[in-house]
Amino acid sequence: MPMLRDPFGRNIEYLRLSVTDRCDFRCFYCLPKGFKDFTPPSTWLTLDEIERLIRVFSEMGVSKVRLTGGEPLVRKDLPELVQRLGALPQIEDLSLSTNASQLEKYADSLKQSGVSRINVSLDSLDRELFRHITQGDLDKVLAGLKAAKRAGMNPIKINMVVMKGVNDHEIGDMVDFCLKHDFTLRFIETMPVGETGKNATDRYVDLREVRKELERRFMLEPAAMRGAGPASYVRVADTDLRIGFITPMSQHFCETCNRVRLSIEGTLYLCLGKHDNAELRPLLRQGVSDEGLKEAIFEAISRKPERHEFNENPGEVMRVMSLTGG
Ligand code: SAM
Ligand code: SF4
Repeated sequence: MPMLRDPFGRNIEYLRLSVTDRCDFRCFYCLPKGFKDFTPPSTWLTLDEIERLIRVFSEMGVSKVRLTGGEPLVRKDLPELVQRLGALPQIEDLSLSTNASQLEKYADSLKQSGVSRINVSLDSLDRELFRHITQGDLDKVLAGLKAAKRAGMNPIKINMVVMKGVNDHEIGDMVDFCLKHDFTLRFIETMPVGETGKNATDRYVDLREVRKELERRFMLEPAAMRGAGPASYVRVADTDLRIGFITPMSQHFCETCNRVRLSIEGTLYLCLGKHDNAELRPLLRQGVSDEGLKEAIFEAISRKPERHEFNENPGEVMRVMSLTGG
């Protein structure tokens, strides 16, 4: 079976799986407060269905899977899912994006099941501001980070969505925090995904400005990073701190896009910034063969858009970010 390649010559090797669209936080740029329109459980893929789909993708060349959400750790059966996916021979890299609010409880078992690379959202180190942005508890997140470090997870990447007049004054503090704890730091530009994302774009900060500001304080050297994905990295000279810039708005990276996204309902989204998708759940439930699934996946990949149009068409994607997992 040939590997997955889209019409623009990009090999698709990476799948982001949103294991739930629910979350115990309400980051104001992601999930609207009081949001009720979650997917009904009757439409969720079972663990068997997820495992089968990921196995089929892995036989087509996908070797990297990131579990995301919503908040993946609100799923009680996540450890079992991790074990099953970690046992698939072609999956070389299984990682997790989390808000870390429940990581203290799960860090050891996740590490034992093969998840050592984690990304943790952390937009502020100030308790009150953190609560304002997320409606969540900073202390739980810090305890989760501590547990992840103790469990030997590495690298631990901190994702900070930089927002003008909200948390942009904390960039220096976040650099110091990551230096102190040996975390990697990634800054992210706000994207107009969903009503909340669209509304948050008036807080947009061009990360090229942040980089210039950092250059005034530190000597930055270009750096490579395993699994760098869309981030472009620098290293702070004479330290181990790497800082990544994820710039979907100011410098899009679509030409190197190697990923697709699968929702918990079994919808394959071909681009974060577009509607194009393929419904795989009905096929699974009609008893499709593995070959039939592969054909449907090939057909979908042949429709992967060349690039998002967040700048030209900011209102295009009105689904919430937690459905596709960022
Ligand atoms: N709950 C987990 C977490 O927060 O890491 C995983 C899911 S979350 C949707 C994945 C990433 O998307 C997070 O780093 C979050 O900050 C980012 N995100 C959500 N909405 C965004 C937006 N409108 N613009 C930019 N990043 C966004
Ligand atoms: Fe939840 Fe992550 Fe969205 Fe925040 S960014 S509301 S933690 S899914």
